[in-house]
Amino acid sequence: MENTPFYFYDLNVLEDTLNAVLNSTKSDNFHIHYAVKANNNKKILEKIAAKGLGSDCVSGWEIEASIKAGFCPKSIAFAGVGKTDDEIAIALTNRIGMIHCESLEEILVINEMAEAMNYVPRVALRLNPNVNALTHEKISTGLSENKFGLTVLEFAELVTLMPTLNHINIVGLHFHIGSQITEMNVFEQLCERINEIVPQFENTIGKLEYLNVGGGLGVNYEDPDQGIIPAFEDYFDTFRWGLRKLNVPIHFELGRSIVAQCGSLRTKVLYVKKSNDKNFAVLDAGMTELMRPALYGAKHKIEKFNHVEEMFSELAYDIVGPICESSDSFGTGVILPELKRGDILTIRSCGAYAESMSLRYNGRQEVGNNLKRQVNTSLRVAKTA
Ligand code: PLP
Repeated sequence: MENTPFYFYDLNVLEDTLNAVLNSTKSDNFHIHYAVKANNNKKILEKIAAKGLGSDCVSGWEIEASIKAGFCPKSIAFAGVGKTDDEIAIALTNRIGMIHCESLEEILVINEMAEAMNYVPRVALRLNPNVNALTHEKISTGLSENKFGLTVLEFAELVTLMPTLNHINIVGLHFHIGSQITEMNVFEQLCERINEIVPQFENTIGKLEYLNVGGGLGVNYEDPDQGIIPAFEDYFDTFRWGLRKLNVPIHFELGRSIVAQCGSLRTKVLYVKKSNDKNFAVLDAGMTELMRPALYGAKHKIEKFNHVEEMFSELAYDIVGPICESSDSFGTGVILPELKRGDILTIRSCGAYAESMSLRYNGRQEVGNNLKRQVNTSLRVAKTA
């Protein structure tokens, strides 16, 4: 395997995952948007679009990539705390389904730009419900200390400005409290807050036509083979029950849970070296190809590719990348069969927030052209023997 590192995607796993999502929601007024930020690989977008999902975008580029991949503009939601005027123009020109607004000033800008186009977009307010997602602090977004969503003060001011806002149609509420959430009681709390907020919205803004509860469902990074398909049934049941009194379409924006387990990162051991009490395996992939461990101490399962278990003794390794940062590490004390130069490792659960977060730091794109993107349609993710 010469051209490492590369991302390996198993589209059969993606197909199974999408079918599981669709089967879990087919009898409800539930609408699933794929959060493009998780992975914007063209083939992956095309496959998800072909299944009839909508998309959730956070940039003008993602809106355009979604449309090119086949997502219907009306099924596209555009979120983000810092939309530029150019990006808002892309959303308005393409007549996308919904813009999720995160500040009063943004609402005023959209109203003004829409007026100039003689158009009235559908808008949802992203509110910060102050719910603790019980996840890593860097991927928690629903606490009042986080930057996301309209503040209570802004909401009050918006209510007074409503009569002047003639070029936006505020019909929705949007929430997203964080990512990699595995405790369903967190989503139960979100539902409770939504049940409190909806009457406030209807008493001050108008009829609620659209509710978007964000994404956030976590996946099994520790043992991906035990959790190839995430806990969609529990997740959707939680909202089905928690929001049963609301007679409104419910939209979801799932990223990680849709794509994480279909991808892995294949990388080669460049060098094995020993210090006093450690063995280091230096890989040809680093934080530039998988940033999550450096960014939030995330752990991914690491396996030796194509090894036969009985034949090898095991050792503990610090698995590190080639980038000039001490945080460029995929794990310490990882137990693996004895490694040697040239061995191939598979870093699992890299379908989400790996390729889309890749960096050019250390000149990685120019260096060696070594980042191949491979999409495999027939093979299962290769497992160690
Ligand atoms: N929606 C919004 C607003 C987000 O910020 C994110 C992720 O950060 C998502 C959806 C997707 O979340 P996840 O990948 O955890 O499902």
